[in-house]
This record gives sequence, C-alpha cells and structure tokens, in this order.
Amino acid sequence: MSDDCIFCKIAAKEMNADIVFQDDDVIAFRDINPQAPTHVLVIPKRHITNPNDLVEGDDALIGKIVRTGKDIAAKEGLAKNGYRLVFNSGEDAGYSVLHVHLHVLGGRKMEWPPG
Ligand code: AMP
Repeated sequence: MSDDCIFCKIAAKEMNADIVFQDDDVIAFRDINPQAPTHVLVIPKRHITNPNDLVEGDDALIGKIVRTGKDIAAKEGLAKNGYRLVFNSGEDAGYSVLHVHLHVLGGRKMEWPPG
C-alpha cells in the first residue's frame, strides 16, 4: 500500500467507492467522472505505480484484471455492441492516478483514434 495513493485507500476501504466486484487480488469500482454510460476501473489491490513497472511476475494479475474487465462489460450488457478496455500510462495519455488501472468503457459509440 502506498500511503498517498487514493486507489490504495479505496482497496483498503479507507475511501468510499461504488464497488462492482472484488476478490483477493483485484477490486473494480465506478469512475467518479464517467466518460461513458458504463465507466468502471479495475485495479490490482497491490500498489503498482505505472504500467512501466510491470514485470513478468505480474502477468497473471494483469490477465485477471483484463478478464475481470470483460466480465464486468458482460454484466453491464455490453458484450454484443462492444466496449473499450484501456490502460493509460504517462503524461501524453493523461495518466492521473498513479496506481495501475484498467478503464472499462461502454454504452455509447466511440471514436477511433481516441482523442
Ligand atoms: P487515468 O487518466 O487513466 O489516470 O484515470 C484515472 C481515473 O480515475 C479518472 O477517470 C478519474 O475520474 C478516476 N478517479 C479519480 N479519483 C477517483 C475516485 N476517488 N473514485 C473513482 N474514480 C476516480
């Protein structure tokens, strides 16, 4: 746990969030500033600051995060029409909360390339 990390605080239940799924490894909650009708963040409970920090030992954890995102998309009724799974990293991508997170976005038509 990183003391000044808001996502660690959510994972530790020290900060409120609208949680949609959790298990021993991951927790998923609704984004506070949703960019689509469904906008959920899936995070590892363990603090990982940035996708740049990922190592081979994290492969199973990241796979679980992606699968959890897919399961949430299905539960939200997005499997047929589609959805987007996004990991941001760094300034150019607008990475603002320094704890690895997967965005699950759906429920509206999206543009490509992203803005
Ligand atoms: P990123 O730009 O990839 O770092 O995305 C960080 C996301 O975290 C943004 O979409 C924020 O709206 C979201 N966010 C920040 N604080 C909270 C919070 N306390 N609860 C839920 N989502 C949050």
